[in-house]
Amino acid sequence: MAGIYIHIPFCKKLCNYCDFYHVIANDDRADFLKALKKEAGFRKDYLKQEPVSTIYLGGGTPSVLSVSETGSLLSHLENNFNIEKDSEITIEINPDDITPEYLKDLRKLNINRISLGVQSWRDEDLHMLNRRHTARQAEEAINAAINEGFTNITIDLIYGIPGMSSDAWAANLDKSFSFGISHLSAYHLTIEPGTVFGKMKKNGLLEEVDEEESTTQFNILVEKAAGAGFLHYEISNFGKPGFFSIHNTNYWKQVPYLGLGPSAHSFNRYSRQWNQRDLKKYIKHAGTDKQLFEKEELDLKTRFNEYIMTSLRTMWGIDLEYTERTFEKEGYDYVINMAGKFINYGLMKQEKNTLILTNQGMMISDNIISEFMMPGDNS
Ligand code: SF4
Repeated sequence: MAGIYIHIPFCKKLCNYCDFYHVIANDDRADFLKALKKEAGFRKDYLKQEPVSTIYLGGGTPSVLSVSETGSLLSHLENNFNIEKDSEITIEINPDDITPEYLKDLRKLNINRISLGVQSWRDEDLHMLNRRHTARQAEEAINAAINEGFTNITIDLIYGIPGMSSDAWAANLDKSFSFGISHLSAYHLTIEPGTVFGKMKKNGLLEEVDEEESTTQFNILVEKAAGAGFLHYEISNFGKPGFFSIHNTNYWKQVPYLGLGPSAHSFNRYSRQWNQRDLKKYIKHAGTDKQLFEKEELDLKTRFNEYIMTSLRTMWGIDLEYTERTFEKEGYDYVINMAGKFINYGLMKQEKNTLILTNQGMMISDNIISEFMMPGDNS
């Protein structure tokens, strides 16, 4: 089993928090699509013909592509990879790109999962984030997707937005769950140095919400999602049973994936590699011998740390049998020793052969995970 991720780097407007690789101009689109197809052909053996069960069109904004461009890209993948018939095919869409015709056409391409970047139901937040859609457009987009027969609809929300109270966050969640969505990804706003918000923070123009407020909003999220029948299956992801993101779950379960496009990451169990964040170079060199990527070979310790990092963020937790099988007695003993104190503090629990973070543990998962990391030889 394997997955394919495609990075479409074009955006129409810069969001103030954005740290993803993107370009605002769209003029290189045709050349980019040619390069993307060349890269797909050139790297068709990366997945060793393993059946591909998920395709994820992310960005950037994949919905800037026309339906025929998206369709020709998907056909190209079909011609080069062993794509399973009932694959999960997700496309990220900006709400103001949606029309009933567009959705109808996406269904004809067998796209079966829609990911909408709603972010907030309050226009003042959307304005502050510099999103290009309004709350009204997001509402119309969800309704249009439901009317078109999409059942696998996920939305993204952001909490911890300066100026958004806990009550406003709770109202955002209530509104989200009032639609027929099946999945929610909710991320705390992070302010990265190179972003517009990063610069504002540096100049004293923006203050992050404090830890207490962040914790309160996370607790509201967990509670309201559970109340709406959503399972908290990864720290930022909530889904109705049967509607977890297969593509993302596979990332967390160490399933190989191929990433195409500038900045896209790939993983084949033994190494990770990531394409340069440079569209011009990508267009010039994709599909040639010129190396466009950086690569990290994963030794056993790195693979162990990656496994701990991803599994502890999920509801499946650390599988002790898998740990022993893959990382031998040393890895197993290390995990058992580390887990003891977190279990005593009520931050972690053991259920049969798995170690899982409790809700309390989830709130400080970054700290727990960093303590769990097996130090390198020089540490
Ligand atoms: S739409 Fe996404 S990728 Fe584009 S600027 Fe906004 S956050 Fe960044």
